[in-house]
Amino acid sequence: MNLAMGRPYLAIPGPSVMPDRVLNAMHRAAPDIYAGALHDMTASLYPDLRAVARTDHHVAIYIGNGHAAWEAANCNLFSRGERALALTTGAFGTSWANSVERLGVRVDRIDFGRCDAADPARVAEALAADPGHQIKVVLLTHVDTASTVRNDVAAVRAAMDSAGHPALLAVDCIASLACDPFLMDEWGVDVMVGASQKGLMTPPGLGLVWFSDRALECCSGSDLRTPYWDWTPRAFAQEYWQRFCGTAPTHHLFGLREALTMLVHEEGLEAAWARHRTLARAVWAAVDVWGQGGDIALNIADPAARGHSVTSVRVGGAATRLRRWCAEQAGVTLGVGLGMEDAEDDWLRIAHMGHVNAHMTLGALSVIESGLCALDIPHGKGALEAAASVIASA
Ligand SMILES: *Cc1c(COP(=O)(O)O)cnc(C)c1O
Repeated sequence: MNLAMGRPYLAIPGPSVMPDRVLNAMHRAAPDIYAGALHDMTASLYPDLRAVARTDHHVAIYIGNGHAAWEAANCNLFSRGERALALTTGAFGTSWANSVERLGVRVDRIDFGRCDAADPARVAEALAADPGHQIKVVLLTHVDTASTVRNDVAAVRAAMDSAGHPALLAVDCIASLACDPFLMDEWGVDVMVGASQKGLMTPPGLGLVWFSDRALECCSGSDLRTPYWDWTPRAFAQEYWQRFCGTAPTHHLFGLREALTMLVHEEGLEAAWARHRTLARAVWAAVDVWGQGGDIALNIADPAARGHSVTSVRVGGAATRLRRWCAEQAGVTLGVGLGMEDAEDDWLRIAHMGHVNAHMTLGALSVIESGLCALDIPHGKGALEAAASVIASA
């Protein structure tokens, strides 16, 4: 029997579930881009985008996905031949480092593997070995969406300070923004990269780059900066069209407006962080119990190093079969494993990112449990009770 009819649930780490309110806000006739409501609405986005990043500094909005936002940050940060230090804890950190390198920047890398957060002591050591202060920027991914490692950004900043090194700190927050706490100013982050389609609950198509006064000043001479990627007019435009270097992404902006209203003004950012934390803990509790009776495990042993928006799970030799069963028989699409060192068939990812509540996460876990039973994949019993008790005691 097939039980997939009904509203499908895409539980992959981006694009995330889009609220009907966001989609409805986009369902409108083309607005005038030269004056009027669109201009006022766009102006209202900037304070809320600053609030989401917990910063008083600047934000540039680009038409583009996360890769575009990386490139926007890269072009503003660097001149050809300058140096960066990339701290990698999974596939996304590596891809960002590659995108910087492709532009002609020299990138030193410290790879912390796939299961552990970046070690601040090694960062301090690497910077101490650069007495001439050649390294201009340290690149870090807050939550690496492949390994689902979460890095301690404040600790990395403290290590940079303890080494007495003036490098800027640039952080990719695409997977964690509005899901995990992120305090750009308090943590001393200079540049932060985000995108619309994950915790911000808006369709893919907007790239976001926040930058501090210090980054603005240190990078004023960057020769990789092109007219399109230049963050200065984007953040400080006199004319509306300068903000988008041409036609504005009109409908995405209306969608983002609605999403920010829901997040910042209705639920509240702290409540959204707490919701993601609880849903993540429910997932972890279930996986731990399954693992007591089978080859099933969380990728990251230390709960403090796990992201709250997505969880990478090992299901030895059966991940593909299980994902297929959940999608085809029960209407839940789970994420594929990404960038792991073992066989692809050993990994899947459960997203709990954005517009997700208890019944959705418990539903996804129940479907996975059903799939484990249907496919005779050995697993411990009691996972759903364990997840429910996390929700009950939240
Ligand atoms: C999704 C993601 C990206 C890439 O975003 P795209 O929109 O797919 O280009 C980069 N970094 C992180 C941490 C992500 O989660």
